[in-house]
Amino acid sequence: MRNLFDDAKSRLDKVLPLLSLPEDIAIRLAQPKLNLTVNIPVRMDDGSLKVFTGYRVQYDDTRGPYKGGIRFHPDVCIDEVTSLAFWMTVKCAVAGLPFGGAKGGVAVDAKMLSKLELERLSRGYIRAIADIIGPKRDIPAPDMYTNATIMGWMADEYNLIMREQLPGVITGKPVYLGGSKGREAATGQGALYVLECWLKRNTKKLQGMRIAVQGFGNAGYHFARLAQEAGCKVMALSDSKGAIYSKDGLDPKKIMFHRKKHNELKAMLYCDVSICEEAENEVMTNEELLALDVDVLVLAAMENQITKDNAVKIQAKLILEIANGPITSQADEILQKNNAVVIPDVLANAGGVTVSYFEWVQNRAGYYWEEEEVNEKLKYLLQKQAGIIFNTAEEKKVTLRSAAYIEGLERISGAIQNRGTKEYFQNL
Ligand code: GLU
Repeated sequence: MRNLFDDAKSRLDKVLPLLSLPEDIAIRLAQPKLNLTVNIPVRMDDGSLKVFTGYRVQYDDTRGPYKGGIRFHPDVCIDEVTSLAFWMTVKCAVAGLPFGGAKGGVAVDAKMLSKLELERLSRGYIRAIADIIGPKRDIPAPDMYTNATIMGWMADEYNLIMREQLPGVITGKPVYLGGSKGREAATGQGALYVLECWLKRNTKKLQGMRIAVQGFGNAGYHFARLAQEAGCKVMALSDSKGAIYSKDGLDPKKIMFHRKKHNELKAMLYCDVSICEEAENEVMTNEELLALDVDVLVLAAMENQITKDNAVKIQAKLILEIANGPITSQADEILQKNNAVVIPDVLANAGGVTVSYFEWVQNRAGYYWEEEEVNEKLKYLLQKQAGIIFNTAEEKKVTLRSAAYIEGLERISGAIQNRGTKEYFQNL
């Protein structure tokens, strides 16, 4: 398989012929502006020293400060972080946020670290990248295996370095430290608003929809919980170890309750039990979950989950991408041939960064909103952008992904050109 970044960029290449953009734009957007690799020494609890490799890739900041999460995962590498930074650039444009795109990551199995080791690593990472971030430069946030607690440590470290209170440097912080109400559930909530908008357009309702959700992290859990509360039937759920199924529907809240209790008892940041172990439901593999005959298949795990090898097995006719890049471009074509509609990541999972934007706005204003206000604004903004993309897809007779890339690219290139193309390119 070709690398992730080349595959990610191929989506851009697909829509370029549909737009009349100066050639320079495509040349300019073919690589990030900066990629930084850092090696972070961490004192372990047993006294030994370990060095972890981390990255921050700043893709494009024409539309505003760089924005994007930080991932802790053993497989983090420059190819993945660059792809994620590219998707953030498109996503912020698609969501209409005044941000460019970036991403960070550390190659680490965070579950193997103690809480103190994790705090030292998080602070060390910020010390290593402090020179290139800031509330008006580059604003990190959580991603896979990072959360509000970790963002709190990171924001604190940055404030210590700068000797100033700058809460807007990081979003996704605990509410105690200037985090926004509603940020925790925002990715799942946003995805549900987008799905609702699509169903309405097709004269369908959320109520009674049979869904399968791959991934039970922050985004997958909150989506499944909110979807069930809205009347959907959650037929299957999965985590990295496997999947569970119930023909009568699962209760995501009940499953999470057991995990939380387990975590609190063991004073852990991450859960070390699988949903397969704790629930009394039929167990299946992740592959079987993906192939289920459901109304909506929700991908909330990782990249490259549906590839050319398993795309033919997908029965669902509507797929919601909550993870970044869960479908490869080859798989996309197979799904399209089989008449499956994909609501793409750059729209479906933009709820997280949208509430990050609200957090940044609140931090800069020093004025905080209630959760209802946050959700109301999130719904308005995302459904407005979703409507624009659905119209574009209809008018231009392209997939929802291509329509999203067309809208995003027009906004990015609009910003590049309005800066004064000639001057701008000469100064690069
Ligand atoms: N990591 C999230 C994403 O991929 C959120 C990014 C942010 O809030 O900046 O969209």
